[in-house]
Amino acid sequence: MAGLSGSPDASASRAEGFPYRAAHLSLSGWGRFAVEAGPAYRPETWRAVEAAVRSAPEPTLALRGLGRSYGDSALNGAGAVVLTERLDRILAFDPEGRTLTCEAGTSLARLLAFLLPRGFFLPVVPGTRFVTVGGALAADVHGKNHHVDGTIGRHVEELTLLLSSGETLRCSPRENAEAFDATIGGMGLTGVILSARLALLPVETPWVRVVKRRGRCLEEVLARLEEEESLSRYSVAWIDGLARGRALGRGVLMRGDHVLAAELPRGKAVRGSLPEKPGPNVPFEAPSALLSPLTISAFDALYYAAGRDSTGLSGPASFFFPLDALGSWNRLYGRRGFVQYQALLPRETAAEGCRRILEEISRERAASFLAVLKTTGPEGRGVLSFPKPGVTLGLDVPNVGERLRPLARRLDEILLALGGRLYLAKDALTDAATLASMYPRLPEFLAVKRRLDPNGRFSSSQARRLGLAEGR
Ligand SMILES: Cc1cc2nc3c(=O)[nH]c(=O)nc-3n(C[C@H](O)[C@H](O)[C@H](O)COP(=O)(O)OP(=O)(O)OC[C@H]3O[C@@H](n4cnc5c(N)ncnc54)[C@H](O)[C@@H]3O)c2cc1C
Repeated sequence: MAGLSGSPDASASRAEGFPYRAAHLSLSGWGRFAVEAGPAYRPETWRAVEAAVRSAPEPTLALRGLGRSYGDSALNGAGAVVLTERLDRILAFDPEGRTLTCEAGTSLARLLAFLLPRGFFLPVVPGTRFVTVGGALAADVHGKNHHVDGTIGRHVEELTLLLSSGETLRCSPRENAEAFDATIGGMGLTGVILSARLALLPVETPWVRVVKRRGRCLEEVLARLEEEESLSRYSVAWIDGLARGRALGRGVLMRGDHVLAAELPRGKAVRGSLPEKPGPNVPFEAPSALLSPLTISAFDALYYAAGRDSTGLSGPASFFFPLDALGSWNRLYGRRGFVQYQALLPRETAAEGCRRILEEISRERAASFLAVLKTTGPEGRGVLSFPKPGVTLGLDVPNVGERLRPLARRLDEILLALGGRLYLAKDALTDAATLASMYPRLPEFLAVKRRLDPNGRFSSSQARRLGLAEGR
């Protein structure tokens, strides 16, 4: 990666007056489905980011955090990519005011390793902590507590946004609110988020009390999710993506709450932390047979059998981030990669929509061993934010070659007919017309983007595919 740092590199080939050298990198989203090669910059200072934004010779720039979005939102085949991961300083911590300010390339893993021993947690975390604050805000991520706490955007007190003009804008719900609302969930297309001040959640211990309930079919799991969501701050259901017939959609509901110090059994530590780095890497690309429908249904059956109704204590890693135990687990899907289909359906159509999606995937034998159901609450401020009241179903779908696009098309049609929408952070395959039907506030987003970024400096492969960057 030599030459990628933000310090001037006199030997590099570059545009006049632009002192930084790009590396040529081959990058993909987490699904390893789309892979694109091209120039990339890795600035270490705000000044270096500004130089890249104003003067890098490529026509467009895409921003990239830790590359945990599944598709092509942090790729840019027609320009350069700006890697933000070295902008990772914690700038201020105010325990009395319960806030933390950091640079946008800081990972949630780093923040949690800092915060948990000091008695704080982040108010919203996605299913992996290896995402940056910038990536989390740009996708306006939701967690298992969306029905209670909304998206991360609700907990951002202020952010600093670098515009394509080189101007730095302070944005919050009160100041430059229009830019704030377009940036939260705006997939990096309004400017570079340089830093953010986040509100924190005080927790007395790192432990979570977890209640598990099994549901024998989709309807039972959905009913349990709806009945029990008000009983806990966090709730989620894992469902068996391969069960068929009467067992279709069977699964395990898990709900949880932070444990108070007074409730902690003897022998459990009141303070704890979370490792800042992922678990051991999958050392090879899996042969396709490893994740065949047979092996996945065996795994799912075991998981279902182990998920008997129970109550117990869980550490924060296994409750919030079970997948982080294995680094680069995305390699398990082999060389061809996979996509994630995350759909949100209004509550009235959720049972029908989830059933039809599961049936389509099962008919294609597109085995999915990770199907997750969550209920969602009211919409937040982000103009392009994903969550609205309903139920979301997320499934990993292996790349089944030429059958993949027609399958994704059929799933989109189900969603469109039932008033649903797709999540941009997971999308890899949909088209502009479909997206426009799912996001009625898209024209509003495009108008703000035009004002903040009149020459379309910020783009991505996804933005071009979906008409989010108007041609660039
Ligand atoms: C295992 C796993 C579980 C997940 N679970 C959830 C979940 O429960 N809930 C959920 O909501 N999401 C979930 N996600 C998705 C993930 O939270 C988002 O894709 C998030 O955006 C990834 O952050 P990142 O730093 O890796 O960003 P990247 O993937 O690198 O980029 C994502 C987007 O953010 C933009 N961006 C990055 N940095 C900046 C910046 N500094 N300024 C402006 N824009 C920027 C990029 O341009 C891109 O559009 C999960 C992903 C994985 C792999």
